[in-house]
Amino acid sequence: EYKENTKVHQFYKEQHLIQTYSYVKQKIVNYSKLDKLEMTMSKALSLLDEFIDPSDPDLDLPNSIHAYQTAERIRKARPLQYELQLTGLIHDIGKVLFKFGEKSCNVVGDTFVLGCAFPECIVFYDSLKENSDFNKEEFQGELGIYEKNCGLENVLVSFGHDEYLYLVLKNNSNHFLQKKYQNIIRFHSLYPWHTGGAYRQLMKDSDYKMLDDVLDFNQYDLYSKEDTDFKLTNEIKEYYKRLLDKYFPEPLKW
Ligand code: FE
Ligand code: FE
Repeated sequence: EYKENTKVHQFYKEQHLIQTYSYVKQKIVNYSKLDKLEMTMSKALSLLDEFIDPSDPDLDLPNSIHAYQTAERIRKARPLQYELQLTGLIHDIGKVLFKFGEKSCNVVGDTFVLGCAFPECIVFYDSLKENSDFNKEEFQGELGIYEKNCGLENVLVSFGHDEYLYLVLKNNSNHFLQKKYQNIIRFHSLYPWHTGGAYRQLMKDSDYKMLDDVLDFNQYDLYSKEDTDFKLTNEIKEYYKRLLDKYFPEPLKW
């Protein structure tokens, strides 16, 4: 639940102020280099052990627990969809950005498109009026700088753990996670799109399939208090260790 004058509100004020079109372009150029370090996906997952997401009003668990919980919910519902389970496990690993000293408003929180008008369904929309893109002439209207139905892959989305992990997956060729799952990861925080109903004018036909995939995934990506009895057992750890080793057999560049 989102309330005014809370930590979560403060978080979004800063995110909305900082993340302009040119700022995000720069972040993507910087992180596309993958010159930070080399590590396995398992190692990256373990780095989330102490990290608690400041943007989520309903969460007070370390992120690695959230990773296993999401994966386990998928495994219960879809026991044979291994790649989707693995996507559940790794979808938030881009939060290792914290380890590189990124501030939280460049790592977590709902995302939104830059380069066109901000739809009012964005959480704490009012604070976007402080974003220097808000009144820029070229970014006005529901298309802004884009062509109708240009496809979501061609628009600039605010920077965070989604886009970062997508960059890592796209630019490392020594793994086996298919594009479909990379796209789920890339757009899972784009709530104004997948849940708010915005940005239909930017979608191409195949983006509707991607929307179904993201919504399907989203039902398992919840921080639900019902799961407080969740126990991370050795069986669970070993099951996912095998999946990680199969799809990510080698260290990746980050
Ligand atoms: Fe996430
Ligand atoms: Fe998540």
